[in-house]
Amino acid sequence: MRKLKLLEERIKKDGQVLGEDVLKVDSFLNHQVDPILMDEMGDEFYRLFKDDQPITKVLTVESSGIAPAVFAGLKFGVPVVFARKHKSLTLKDDIYSSEVFSFTKQVSNKISISHKFLSKNDRVLIIDDFLANGQAIEGLLDIINQAGAELVGVGVVIEKSFQKGREILDQKGIKVESLARIKEFKDGQVVFRED
Ligand code: 5GP
Repeated sequence: MRKLKLLEERIKKDGQVLGEDVLKVDSFLNHQVDPILMDEMGDEFYRLFKDDQPITKVLTVESSGIAPAVFAGLKFGVPVVFARKHKSLTLKDDIYSSEVFSFTKQVSNKISISHKFLSKNDRVLIIDDFLANGQAIEGLLDIINQAGAELVGVGVVIEKSFQKGREILDQKGIKVESLARIKEFKDGQVVFRED
């Protein structure tokens, strides 16, 4: 069944294909945020993961994962923690960190989460904006392992199924749910998967 038609329609209307493999969606997700669409996404993530409760935390990476993660956290009624990418004077000691290569920026970033906000008692739902090669989510998985927490699943707003991230997560036996799955970009247009 095709999920969240509204999102697919919005991608078709406002998304811009850049080069071979990048989709720009800065009018509703990556720069300007559409809270009404985000609210729908939160409902959909709740529907997809409600049977996997208890969930104690939603985890994401700054900055574009924060909006969908907050709406998911709202629906589950749990805190949302975002991994920080930049060194901060207030985030020094007692941190879990992992190295992540950024697909869009082509640089390596260290992402960090304070020990205070993740522990072995947590059951974690990861939410992110895009799944491309899976590096960002692998970084979060590394941090979840360091904390001894348990992963419940991964929810993604837009999956580019032609890149290798989905396969990597499937091979690890992780439950992955994507609200829109892109099969390919053809002549500058987005083609969604039918399943
Ligand atoms: P990955 O780590 O899976 O290779 O890439 C995931 C991260 O890269 C996402 O969190 C997102 O910020 C960024 N990203 C990957 N592909 C795209 C894309 O096509 N468009 C945009 N706007 N961001 C992307």
